[in-house]
Amino acid sequence: MRRPIIAGNWKMNKTASEGVALVEALKPLVADANCDVVVCVPAINIPAISEACKGSNIHVGAENMHWAASGAYTGEISAEMLQEYGVEYVIVGHSERRQYFGETDETVNKRTLAVLAAGMTPIVCVGEKLEERENGTTNEVLDRQLTVGLAGVEDVKKVVIAYEPVWAIGTGRTATDEQAEETIAYIRKKIGELFCPRCAENTRIQYGGSMNAKNCKGLMAQANIDGGLIGGASLKAPDFSAIVHFDR
Ligand code: PEP
Repeated sequence: MRRPIIAGNWKMNKTASEGVALVEALKPLVADANCDVVVCVPAINIPAISEACKGSNIHVGAENMHWAASGAYTGEISAEMLQEYGVEYVIVGHSERRQYFGETDETVNKRTLAVLAAGMTPIVCVGEKLEERENGTTNEVLDRQLTVGLAGVEDVKKVVIAYEPVWAIGTGRTATDEQAEETIAYIRKKIGELFCPRCAENTRIQYGGSMNAKNCKGLMAQANIDGGLIGGASLKAPDFSAIVHFDR
């Protein structure tokens, strides 16, 4: 019912030419995928990557977007700028944006609404820090991130949620299958309360945090996990392809 979605997040890695080489290597490997395949790439790489992805089943995403249509926002990128190059997905509220660039639940909300208004799909990242998991406030943190971040969303199934425990991102420390499933089931329940139970059933929720070719099968076998947001392992074509083929 929910089509799986495997998305790479290249972060600040790969020049445009390196990125094109990665996409060229990836195209034949993922052509037979049974899921949506997305690469979210640095803004300056988008024209080259969009061109390279043309005619393939690889969709292009951005790593961030400003909520204003245009204006005096030095260094920012608008929806229209992304759409001119066929961008379909935008990562919103990644923990690195929250940690280093002042992203808040309120700005996550503004970006999410702007991405949806432009007809693109936001990949909205939520997740607790290590101390929050250890002091038992994970659900409280998720409640706040979801309630504020998704306020005013009319059709939540147009949003992809990425549950990314901050302690698992780039650390090699993955949540266990059970931890990821339990927390994502909680997120789905919360979406049900904030919107409607049927809306929750139709909303795709990814896991992200050191997902790789080895652990993807166990994570993807969980009833509530509909995909992955992949950092490090998306930078090598064979590794990313192995995750895209989690069902083999
Ligand atoms: C991410 O950046 O969203 C991520 C999950 O990174 P990694 O896979 O490297 O942990």
